[in-house]
Amino acid sequence: MTSFIKNAIFITSLLATSTAFAADPHWTYDEEWDNLSNATNPTKATDFPYAECGLGQKQSPIDLGSVKAVTSTNALKPAYKNEALTVVNNGHSIKVNVPATTKSVLSIGSEQYTLLQYHIHAPSEHVIGGKTYAAEIHFVHGTPDGKLAVVAVLVDAPVTAKANVEFQNLLNVAPKNTTDAPALTANPAKILPNTSKFYLYSGSLTTPPCTEGVNWYVLQKPIQITPAQLTTFETLYSGNARAAQALNGRQVLAK
Ligand SMILES: [Zn+2]
Repeated sequence: MTSFIKNAIFITSLLATSTAFAADPHWTYDEEWDNLSNATNPTKATDFPYAECGLGQKQSPIDLGSVKAVTSTNALKPAYKNEALTVVNNGHSIKVNVPATTKSVLSIGSEQYTLLQYHIHAPSEHVIGGKTYAAEIHFVHGTPDGKLAVVAVLVDAPVTAKANVEFQNLLNVAPKNTTDAPALTANPAKILPNTSKFYLYSGSLTTPPCTEGVNWYVLQKPIQITPAQLTTFETLYSGNARAAQALNGRQVLAK
């Protein structure tokens, strides 16, 4: 195994949390997580094995309501392939795993990140001036030396929406239990909206172990799904979103 593949597998396992490592302490959104996600009252943070979730100063998600406009930031250039993916239910979300051999990459300036996986939160984790979206999809990317970049896609579910075909293809195979791993052949780029405008900041994984140093790119243009598609997802996961965390002096850029 190359060190890159080992690293990619490690990162994927890290993000898969409790089902990947039997030794990982169990966590749920309803139990410990409510304490960890409450930035003003992190009373149980130090009791919990994932201390960075409570003690970290650059945590995600955040409210993107206050931003500084910039023009010089590097553009996002996703180049994803149509390929055989694997859909899993990891106990916290529906997650689509990309094969370690993938050529799906995201270029940002001279940096090239490989697509590792994408998964869904409902409602959204990032909020904009207090506004929560119906859902949020996270496309997680990594470099061989361990840098992480997450592209977040906000999801609206207005009554006027047309059925989202790509989202439906994913819903059609999304497993109810954590032991199934159906295949899905898709090009993840088809879920993405226009990527030219985005918010940029430095944050963390939004699930334990809440590791910091993650570059976040939250796309400004949301995608749409129908209310029925949202309801279908919510029969699998609803409320799997961490609350907005304190900025602690961080600057959010908007391009
Ligand atoms: Zn996520």
